[in-house]
Amino acid sequence: MKSHDIRQSFVDFFAERGHRHVPSAPLVPHGDPTLLFTNAGMVQFKSYFLGEETPPAPRAVTAQKCLRVSGKHNDLENVGPSPRHHTFFEMLGNFSFGDYFKEEAIRFGWELVTEVWGLAPERLSATVFHEDDEAWELWKGISGLPESRIHRCGAADNFWAMGDTGPCGPCSEIFVDVHPERPAVGWEEGTESGRYLEIWNLVFMQFDRDAAGTLHPLPAPSVDTGAGLERVAAVLQGVESNYDTDLFGPILAAAAKLAGTSYGADGEDDVSLRVVADHLRAVTFLLADGVIPGNEGRGYVLRRILRRAVRHGMKLGFDEPFLHRLVPVVGEVLGGAYPELTATREASRATVAAEEEKFLSTVASGARQVQEEIEGLREAGESVLPGKAAFTLYDTYGLPLEVLREIAEEERFTVDEEGFEAEMAARREQSRAVAGGGLDLPTLKRALGGAGELPATGFVGYDRHRLDGARVERLAALGGAEGAARAASLAAGDAGVAVLDRTVFYAEGGGEVGDSGAIEWDGGRARVTDTRKDPAGTSFHFVEVEEGTLAPGTAVRLAVDGGRRLAIERNHTATHLLHAALREVLGEGVRQAGSLVAPDRLRFDFTFPRPVMAEELAGIEERVNRRTLAATPTAIEVRPYREALAAGAMALFGEKYGDTVRTVEVPGFSLELCGGCHVRNTGEIGLFRITGERGIASGVRRIEAVTGEAAYRRVREAEARLDEVAAAAGVPPERAADEVESLRRKLADAESELSRLRVRLVAGGLVAGTGGGSGTGGGAADEGATEVEGIKVLAREVPAAPPAELRNLADVLRNKLGSGVVVLGARDDGKVTLLAAVTPDLAGRLSAGLLVKELAPLVGGGGGGRPDFAQAGGREPDKLPDALAAVDAAVRHQLG
Ligand code: ATP
Ligand code: MG
Repeated sequence: MKSHDIRQSFVDFFAERGHRHVPSAPLVPHGDPTLLFTNAGMVQFKSYFLGEETPPAPRAVTAQKCLRVSGKHNDLENVGPSPRHHTFFEMLGNFSFGDYFKEEAIRFGWELVTEVWGLAPERLSATVFHEDDEAWELWKGISGLPESRIHRCGAADNFWAMGDTGPCGPCSEIFVDVHPERPAVGWEEGTESGRYLEIWNLVFMQFDRDAAGTLHPLPAPSVDTGAGLERVAAVLQGVESNYDTDLFGPILAAAAKLAGTSYGADGEDDVSLRVVADHLRAVTFLLADGVIPGNEGRGYVLRRILRRAVRHGMKLGFDEPFLHRLVPVVGEVLGGAYPELTATREASRATVAAEEEKFLSTVASGARQVQEEIEGLREAGESVLPGKAAFTLYDTYGLPLEVLREIAEEERFTVDEEGFEAEMAARREQSRAVAGGGLDLPTLKRALGGAGELPATGFVGYDRHRLDGARVERLAALGGAEGAARAASLAAGDAGVAVLDRTVFYAEGGGEVGDSGAIEWDGGRARVTDTRKDPAGTSFHFVEVEEGTLAPGTAVRLAVDGGRRLAIERNHTATHLLHAALREVLGEGVRQAGSLVAPDRLRFDFTFPRPVMAEELAGIEERVNRRTLAATPTAIEVRPYREALAAGAMALFGEKYGDTVRTVEVPGFSLELCGGCHVRNTGEIGLFRITGERGIASGVRRIEAVTGEAAYRRVREAEARLDEVAAAAGVPPERAADEVESLRRKLADAESELSRLRVRLVAGGLVAGTGGGSGTGGGAADEGATEVEGIKVLAREVPAAPPAELRNLADVLRNKLGSGVVVLGARDDGKVTLLAAVTPDLAGRLSAGLLVKELAPLVGGGGGGRPDFAQAGGREPDKLPDALAAVDAAVRHQLG
């Protein structure tokens, strides 16, 4: 069975049994700051298991993209040596949200594995939690497995918990004997050696664990399962490891070919090839999901995986970027199941190439830094590179620990790896905080009430900005040791958070900033400074009480700051228009990587491998403005998710969509799934102006723009500036550019004329001022010159002038002299310039370069040049007369 068919057979099997097929969620979990990456199929359903949200259907089936590189599940170090662990893998799962439980879960699993996948029961074993007699009996009854192949195991492997508290329960795993032809071995030994391979884990969510560790039975027990597609494929395709399946074959072959080897030829190379293939998949999927390489949080993890792949590439002999050339191969293998790979292929390739290049040069320069560090330590009699120093090298230069270790070993040094790990752990903490974005809703929620206790807030503010008769449900005061604490009331001067039953305040989401405005009640008033919400839909109004006292139960009147909201709406609809126009002009590969919709501006980040050209930007801007001019009514609808996708709606990365979705359409141009606030008619947007375009990471561009009043103000200001320029130039605005251009030309002409005149004046003055005679041609300069052993020497100070002019002057004087040496000095602003010129007939006897070399130190400088012409600078202007007085001696010195 091909891997594609295995994936499909799993989905079909459960769909036929009443499970809703839910698409894979992105690798970046939505609204869960505690988790960097989706690491199991249940992640997108967490709030259903916690009872925070009601599931749209009682049963679901998914093929979920997973990444296990951080936190509780981290398989990174296993990748390469292990035949069955990946960073990125696909998890097939079926879920019951308080619907069926152990019996059906086991029955489904057994039926699929034996009947659909056709695995012989003799090859199968199951494990159960040692206290779970129920599961043990069920396995025995349903599968008919002999008791010797239903193993009772401890909590480490067979008791699953989401966290220290909350839903948890026993689990049960299905194992396959991958070498039935060999003599049987004991369970422990067989699982360790990989002879018995775990393919599927069934979790029975049965309890709610409280803070004291006590287990309370859940009212509606649930099921969460996960089977690794790569492992199942290895079993069904009868191969030794996941890497020998059709999921990895083409990637390994392409990588080996580039490296000029073949997979299977050499043990050590094979490990590196596996690492490259595995990490390539992780990197490609992360990029497709909009993660951008960076120095913190998710971007940092992505960068580390990429660099680890490059490191192994270096072991394979690559000394220039190679990984990006393999990016398209991942799309060839998995693009059918994950279309996002195809759409982002070019941008991802460009990003990987840029990262690789940066890293390779980093390693080269970082290695030098390590050597310097080690030298210093050696001199101090040390032989260990301290953890902190190692981490700094790692952090600043991106040098992985392996590289540090290698270099250290070459220098007969060791690295304090424990200290390094400690620094690393501190950094991880920091990353986690960053992933949370500083927005500590969990703390707020804890202050305001327990999980599941806060009601979702009804939002009725799409079409109205005012609402009478909303009710205050809960209050928290901000500040204190915990950051927030539940409050029975908020008095004038207090800052806090209010949860209401209904609201017209839009809570920050989908890039759109939260609303601000006012809450009023009889005898009081508070300003709303911001509004946010949690994934379960509870809105948090950040308030500052100005008058009176606010308490739960108070009936309040709400008023959103309407002007601000309208400006936000303009920018939000304009963002959709911009997105559509970008795809028209730059191609469908453009993928949204983030956005900000604020009242005064909008920002749109997207993947694209190069800067957007000026004419492309003009085309994009024009397309958007054509839509605003067309004054098209926007169509906003709530409809089933599938229907929306079928209509061509763009679903955005990182968003979690329910059963029914809201679509925002500008008919004939843009259709997006979006929960934000929009204008009713594109005409309301007014003018749309792009204010900037730049790269914010490799392969990611950012466009900033303004609309409505902000755009109008910008245009007016630009025009006012043009008027000023025109007035200053003394012409009407339409002729200002020509006039400025012509003024600049005239000025340049005048300057060069001035310079010519100055040279003539100075040269003439020197002649006139020194000789008194009025000879002709070169002869006249003689009189200003001294003679040294028959050679004419003219040494003079001249007024400061631009370097080109001084050179010109030296040249003119040299010509006038006919045969001889000219040395000029000029002082300006604490600096001295010395120039020397020698006529061609003296070549071989006198060198301008040597003269300057001798004279420059006298004015505190240095310099040199050609034998016929040389120049030097100095920092002691006071010494110029001394230097000029020394010219004769210097000439004599050279001649002698
Ligand atoms: P193992 O003990 O083999 O690491 P696990 O107990 O961590 O597996 P679960 O968390 O139960 O695995 O995940 C469910 C299934 O997902 C596993 O049965 C396996 O098929 C698959 N799986 C888990 N981790 C990986 C991984 N790193 N690479 C590939 N498949 C995996
Ligand atoms: Mg594991």
